[in-house]
Amino acid sequence: MTGPTSRALRVRGVVLPEGEHRDIYVVGGRISYSPVADAELVAEGYIVPGLVDAHCHVGLDADGAVPPAAQELQALTNRDAGTLLIRDAGSAADTRWIDDREDLPRIIRAGRHIAPTKRYIRNYGVEIEPHELVETVAEQARRGDGWVKLVGDWIDRDVGDLAPCWPGDVLADAIGKAHELGARVTAHVFGEESLPDLLAAGIDCLEHGTGLSDELIGVMAERQVALVPTRRQIDNFPTYAAQGESKFPAYAWHMRDLHARVDDTLRSAHEAGVPIYAGTDAGGVLPHGLLATEIRMLSEGAGLSAYDALGAGSWRARRWLGMPADLAEGAPADFVVYSHDPIEDVRVLVAPARVVLRGKVVV
Ligand SMILES: [Zn+2]
Repeated sequence: MTGPTSRALRVRGVVLPEGEHRDIYVVGGRISYSPVADAELVAEGYIVPGLVDAHCHVGLDADGAVPPAAQELQALTNRDAGTLLIRDAGSAADTRWIDDREDLPRIIRAGRHIAPTKRYIRNYGVEIEPHELVETVAEQARRGDGWVKLVGDWIDRDVGDLAPCWPGDVLADAIGKAHELGARVTAHVFGEESLPDLLAAGIDCLEHGTGLSDELIGVMAERQVALVPTRRQIDNFPTYAAQGESKFPAYAWHMRDLHARVDDTLRSAHEAGVPIYAGTDAGGVLPHGLLATEIRMLSEGAGLSAYDALGAGSWRARRWLGMPADLAEGAPADFVVYSHDPIEDVRVLVAPARVVLRGKVVV
C-alpha cells in the first residue's frame, strides 16, 4: 500500500548484521538509504532483519487443526514477538488466507506432516503405509511452499522405544521425488536409529536431531544439511519420559538420555560447521512467540555466540529460506528494532521496541 497518504518512515541506529550506524528509510514497503526529507522518525536503536522461526506450526494445537480466528492469534503472537517469517513445519489446517494479510507474518509451509499409520500425534499428519510415501511426498510438495515434512522416528509401542518410521530405500525414492519437484525435505527425529537412512537418502534438514553422533554430524557438515534443534522443546523430554515411564521404561530412559546430552550434541554440531537455525516448535505443546527464548538457549547451552544465535533466527535463516538476508537497498522492509544491543545481551530480544512488517509499523 503505497498510496499518496503513506509517508516514508525513518529508523536510525545500528543496522545488523553489519553493525553500521545508519539511517534507514522505508518507502513503498522497501528499504532505502536515500534520505527522504519529510520521513517520519519511528524508532531509534538496534535494527535486526525480521526474525525467523524455522520450526513453527500455525493452525495447530494439542488436538489438531484450529479455526482461522485461533490461527490469526497465533500469527499475531509471533509477529508481536518480532517473528516476521515462519517456516511452518507441518500443519493440519489450511492457513493460505494468511498470505493475503499484509499485517501477518510471511509463512513458508511444509504441507502436512507425513507419518506412518498410528505412529504420530493424532489429527496432525497424513498417515500412510510406506509404499504410499513417494506419492504422498509428491502431493505435499505441491501443497507446500518448497518444503516437505516427514516424521522420521517416533515411539513404536511394540518395541517400547523410539524406532524409525520408514525403510531406507523408500526414503531415498521419496526424497528424490521431492527434489525433482523442487522441494526440500526435513524430518522430525529424536533418536539415533533413523538418522543414517535419512542422511543417506539426501535429506535437507533435521528437526530436533538429539540422537546425532559425531560421525553423522560430520556428514551433515560436509553436505551442509541444516539442523533446527528446537532447544526449548527438548526441555520437555523429561515430561514425555515421565508420561511414558510405566508402559515404556526403555523409551523413558532414552528420552532422558537424549535430553541430558543435548547441549553437547549441539555444541559438536555447531563446532563442526552444521548450519543451525532457531525454531520454537510452537503449536503442539508450546505456545507461540518463544523465539527470543530459543535464541537465548542456543547462545547459552549450545555454545553459539550471541551473534551466531541471532543470525540463526534472523539473517542466516532468511537467506536459507530464500529471502533477502540483509536490510539492503530495495529489500522488503521487515525488521525489528531493539533499544539495547542484542549482540551484547540476547535477552533484550524478548522486548522489541518496534516491529516493521512490509513497511508498516505493526508494534
Ligand atoms: Zn514440530
